[in-house]
Amino acid sequence: MPTVRNWQLGREMSYPYDARFPSRQFAFVFNINRCIACQSCTMACKSTWTFNKGQEHMWWANVETKPYGGYPQWWDARILARLEEANPAGQVWGGAPADARFGPYGVFEGTTIFEAAATTLTPDSARVLGYLPADDEWNAPNIYEDNPVGKRGVRNQLDPTGEQLPEHKTWFFYLARICNHCSYPACLAACPRKAIYKRPEDGIVLLDQAECRGYRKCVEACPYKKSMYRGNTRTSEKCIACFPRVEGTDPETGGEPMETRCMAACIGQIRMQGLVQIAADGTWAEDRQNPLYYLVHVAKVALPLYPQFGTQPNGYYIPPRWVPRPYLRQMFGPGVDQAIDSYVNPSRELLAVLQLFRRSNRIIDRYEIQEGPKVYEGSLRGRKVELFNDTVIAFGRSGREIFRTTIEEPIHVRTNAHANSI
Ligand code: SF4
Ligand code: SF4
Ligand code: SF4
Repeated sequence: MPTVRNWQLGREMSYPYDARFPSRQFAFVFNINRCIACQSCTMACKSTWTFNKGQEHMWWANVETKPYGGYPQWWDARILARLEEANPAGQVWGGAPADARFGPYGVFEGTTIFEAAATTLTPDSARVLGYLPADDEWNAPNIYEDNPVGKRGVRNQLDPTGEQLPEHKTWFFYLARICNHCSYPACLAACPRKAIYKRPEDGIVLLDQAECRGYRKCVEACPYKKSMYRGNTRTSEKCIACFPRVEGTDPETGGEPMETRCMAACIGQIRMQGLVQIAADGTWAEDRQNPLYYLVHVAKVALPLYPQFGTQPNGYYIPPRWVPRPYLRQMFGPGVDQAIDSYVNPSRELLAVLQLFRRSNRIIDRYEIQEGPKVYEGSLRGRKVELFNDTVIAFGRSGREIFRTTIEEPIHVRTNAHANSI
């Protein structure tokens, strides 16, 4: 098997194909701390792409309550267990985090789903370690919604002292998910028909319906279970990253790349999506004023979902600050402590970048900050806090300004004439 460089793992790994990188990569950051599980994202995708006969069980965008919820049910526990079996030395990380764009979380010393396949599967299909969910596991996307976990052995009772940060003792959180348009897609690696491809211009992973014969190898291989089988067409389907919008062909934006349906519908303002520049070695090219580059590589506040799987996913998450750290480290890797520390003690720049989320449905290519006056001084959890009413300005791919906003959010007072209207 060829060897490729996985910057999230800080090392080389085996992958069935040679590495090929797009010039730009579809990527996104979800701030879990803000998600309210309103499911507007879920329904925006459903009503756009998967409302037809045979697609009833398909939710390309979904939001599940962790730790018990999952769509399909138990998807992550099941693939983690398989990986654990194949990986008796454990899914451990070592080495010091590098400052460079390569290896910011240290070095993953365990086995990825591609490497585990070599020792656990028969040679004929030894491309990716995975499993095929049972039909009924796709039936209940909201299963265990809002169900918390608490002390082991104590049922139906909240922990009486456990509501203080840094960690709650009774907890849950909402995990919003779409296809990660991975840099080393497991779905693509497993397809014997080569029906799945990654676009060179934006890294979006698409599944060619004309080539697919419904073998479901992609469904089995995707560790995030984001490729889905459709019985009445006997082909598999997956999130298409709303590519006409990302290409800028939606008439609404006049050629400016636009965020996807699930991003633009987000009520909680947790989502930011963009296109990041990729260097010749597959790492993110330095692009200091791109908000995604800033969140992932400078503030290091957003982390990949289960990087140990090895697909180099392009979805990043700001971890929920109230959840026990061992759980989060398993889900997002060893960068969790630093990410939460950055988030709860935000720099002046991070506060400004967080204001960019969901002010527009255009993709932000670059931002600038204009400094404003100090509006608050105080202390929080023993640290001095100063707030400045800076203005942050977002620019699109064309270089045109998309919008500007301030740290202090404007207050709109409803007039008496509209006191009771919405
Ligand atoms: S998340 Fe799954 S379906 Fe999407 S690109 Fe990665 S491996 Fe493929
Ligand atoms: S990017 Fe588009 S196709 Fe993909 S989950 Fe979101 S709305 Fe659905
Ligand atoms: S629309 Fe936003 S806030 Fe609502 S469930 Fe989806 S990600 Fe969460």
